[in-house]
Amino acid sequence: MTELPYVAATELAALLDAGDISAVELTETLRARVEHLDDKLHLFLKRTDERALSDARAADARRSSGDRLSLFDGVPIGYKDIFVTRGVPTTCGSRILEGWVPPFDATVVERCSRAGLPILGKLNMDEFAMGSSTENSAFGPSKNPWNLKTVPGGSSGASAALVAAGGAPWAWGTETGGSVRQPASLCGVVGVKPTYGLVSRYGMIAFASSLDQAGPLSRTVKDSAALLTIAAGHDPLDSTSIPQAAPDYLEGIDRGIAGMRIGIVKEIESGDGMQPGVGERVQEAYQRLEKLGASIEEVSLPSFEYGISAYYLIAPAEASSNLARYDGVRYGLRSSDGSDVGAMMARTRAEGFGDEVKRRIMLGTYALSAGYYDAYYGKAQRVRTLITRDLERAYASVDLIACPTSPTTAFKLGERTNDPLAMYLSDVFTVPVNLAGNAAISVPCGVSADDGLPVGLQLIAKSLDEATMFRAAYAFEQDLGWIDSPEGRPPL
Ligand code: GLN
Repeated sequence: MTELPYVAATELAALLDAGDISAVELTETLRARVEHLDDKLHLFLKRTDERALSDARAADARRSSGDRLSLFDGVPIGYKDIFVTRGVPTTCGSRILEGWVPPFDATVVERCSRAGLPILGKLNMDEFAMGSSTENSAFGPSKNPWNLKTVPGGSSGASAALVAAGGAPWAWGTETGGSVRQPASLCGVVGVKPTYGLVSRYGMIAFASSLDQAGPLSRTVKDSAALLTIAAGHDPLDSTSIPQAAPDYLEGIDRGIAGMRIGIVKEIESGDGMQPGVGERVQEAYQRLEKLGASIEEVSLPSFEYGISAYYLIAPAEASSNLARYDGVRYGLRSSDGSDVGAMMARTRAEGFGDEVKRRIMLGTYALSAGYYDAYYGKAQRVRTLITRDLERAYASVDLIACPTSPTTAFKLGERTNDPLAMYLSDVFTVPVNLAGNAAISVPCGVSADDGLPVGLQLIAKSLDEATMFRAAYAFEQDLGWIDSPEGRPPL
């Protein structure tokens, strides 16, 4: 049997039901694994070992009396530290929230707790989810288990690294421009960006509200489908939540992809900042999809390349407004150095926010200022509409769009920290999907021949068509067989 830390959640559920393992044994095993990993990878901002164990004990008691909360009662999970957790410190990777203990649970946390998932703790991230490497965390970066000199991606980098290295079968991350898919790709795991509005944003600390969306990370496609099923569906506490129940994404996932039409993007050419080893793996992936019965067609998305430019106006504009609430009065840090309230607020913000967050607040404030609003923010919103229309046009002839998730594999720690533009380009293939609000998944397609690091294939689906996306990703994953092979595990 696969060692316990690498067993998928859907299989753990069966082992728990059969009485082959207990939730306490499972939680203890993962805790020991985390102990080993955390030293090397710096994954947790807060571990909740005691809480996890008592949650596990309760799950075992429920199972033995025949009233488990869900199939996954007793299967532990980790949360990116952007989800607020009642009684558990939540920092969003920022000094400005240090010492803040939320009085309530985010809806995602609440729904997973209602399904009986013990909470392992809160995972490191780029400050306020701004970044692609975790290097913007105020508490130091996390590392990639495939190579400790490289980044795990970001901003949900620790969530991806934890899952990749067998510290948990699944974890929650969030996306604004690629923060689940890109780290999933760099760590060799599955990551999902659901349709905007499918998962409640209530209790998810806001970065750019029109883009933010929670997403699962796991080693297998089925586990991500199962986790999304637990949390998705209408929430009256989020005004942008789609007012309908979500389906069970495991249903029909194994129906195969014969006859499916998959588009590849004409404008994405190898070269163009794309690592050759990434291009190779992704080309092979297209061939595999074709072999599995899909028809591959070229689609044109001429506005795709303007995604990053539009995103870096819209996201900072929204962030500058969302982050105004951190003023030293309501949450966390308060500077004692200030002669009056205004000075106290200014000092708190100067001390509490990191450089990238300040850069975004300045960019956003500038883009929204009276004289420039039309030229920058207004223009970016129009580009957003063009991108949405391009994608809609493509869906007239294909069911899914396939492309790389990230143009490169995991890059070295420090390599892009002094070059914000190079960092921003990490999300060139993911950002357009957030702007359009569509669904997408990153699924591992092996390692790059240049450096032996994981490569992710991205499959993009129209809004609310997660079922088709999961079906294709599952067929691909099963045929490749990488995740279940020794090659699919990082050397740690
Ligand atoms: N890397 C992008 C950024 O820095 C996306 C972040 C995200 O998706 N949260 O904004």
